[in-house]
Amino acid sequence: MSKISRLLSTYSPLGLIRYLRMKVMGKELLITGSCHCCGNCCRKINLDGTYGWLRSEKEFFEVLKDYPEYERFEITGKDDQGFVQFTCKWLTDEGICVDHANSLSICVNFPDKSLHFCGGQLPSGCGFTLNEVRPFAKYLEDEIEGK
Ligand code: SF4
Ligand code: SF4
Repeated sequence: MSKISRLLSTYSPLGLIRYLRMKVMGKELLITGSCHCCGNCCRKINLDGTYGWLRSEKEFFEVLKDYPEYERFEITGKDDQGFVQFTCKWLTDEGICVDHANSLSICVNFPDKSLHFCGGQLPSGCGFTLNEVRPFAKYLEDEIEGK
């Protein structure tokens, strides 16, 4: 796999633009807010495989061999980045996880910063926000240098 293919499998074209823009501008990603349990992030899910974000049903079946717990996910289509989109069978009509104690690390850690770099965005109504910000350390450096 070439370096550019590897980068695009990790970032997607839009995600790569975001990554490079932040690098050039010296910004970092800041996640703020909290979860109010709307369940929307369990309905439109992208999954990561060995070679980046899953783009085909075949890749998903490969991942299932190593991660049978992903059986809970079912394919609903593709998003506008070309990544496969899943919904979770464990989500009830009321938007509640049937077995939260056995939810996965990707559930517990949502939203992960990688969402921004695969060109994704937070589900509508999510209580978190993702912002590209100038790190506090940079402001401090400017202050010390008298800029
Ligand atoms: S396991 Fe539970 S928390 Fe994780 S995606 Fe499914 S319904 Fe949501
Ligand atoms: S979409 Fe956001 S607010 Fe809703 S359940 Fe997921 S993390 Fe919580």
